[in-house]
Amino acid sequence: MKEKFPEKYYSFSCTKCGYCCCEEGYVFFTEEEIDKASNILNMDRQDFIFSYLEKDEFGEYYHIVKKDSCCSFLIDNLCIIQEDKPSQCSTFPYWDEYMDINGNILKSKFKRKCPGIK
Ligand code: SF4
Ligand code: SF4
Repeated sequence: MKEKFPEKYYSFSCTKCGYCCCEEGYVFFTEEEIDKASNILNMDRQDFIFSYLEKDEFGEYYHIVKKDSCCSFLIDNLCIIQEDKPSQCSTFPYWDEYMDINGNILKSKFKRKCPGIK
């Protein structure tokens, strides 16, 4: 019978390099996260949505990070909505798609560039 290799895990400690804020993709905001972020920036909620977000066909709001650019909320390599950034950001890299059921980050699943991953 073929032996199964044990899973290998990564440890994680964020270096605050900001690299993950400059990857092409989408940052999703819940309604509550929109309220919090617009409050931090002292912006009217609708202005915040108009300035930063798009809405998909399911009614979900998202901010686009284009190729070769960074998230609009990254200024001088710091997130200006850090204390209330979206859960997508605050939970990275502890995302279901990268973890086992015990919350370990699996080497077999996490294939992104992140200097905090060892
Ligand atoms: S890429 Fe990794 S180490 Fe760098 S800021 Fe993002 S989570 Fe932290
Ligand atoms: S919201 Fe903040 S943490 Fe999230 S991608 Fe933008 S700058 Fe980075």
